[in-house]
Amino acid sequence: MNAKAAQAALLAELEQLLDVAESAQDAAGTVELDQTRVGRLSRMDAMQAQQISKEANRRRQLKITRIRQALVRIEHGEYGECLECGEMISAGRLEVDPSTPWCIKCADHQ
Ligand SMILES: [Zn+2]
Repeated sequence: MNAKAAQAALLAELEQLLDVAESAQDAAGTVELDQTRVGRLSRMDAMQAQQISKEANRRRQLKITRIRQALVRIEHGEYGECLECGEMISAGRLEVDPSTPWCIKCADHQ
C-alpha cells in the first residue's frame, strides 16, 4: 500500500471511528440518566455495560490517536518507517493495519 492509498484508507477509518465515538457518547449519557430509575440488579448490569463501553472508548481513542499520527507521518514523508528502529514496516503488515507505528519485531515488545 503506498502512502496515498494509506492516507485514503486512514481518513475513511478515522471518519468512521469519530462517528462511532459520537454516538457512543450519546449512549453513555443515556445509561447515566436511566440508573436512577432501575433496580439494584439491573443497575449492576448497567454498570458492567458502562465498564465495557468505557474500555471500548479507550481502545477507540487509542486507534484514533494512532491514525492521526500515521497521517502526520504521511505528510512528513515518513510513512511506513518503524517508529522504534526506523526500518520499513512490511507491506503486508501495513495492509492489515495502515496505522501501525511499528515493524513486527518492535511491535512484539511494546
Ligand atoms: Zn522496528
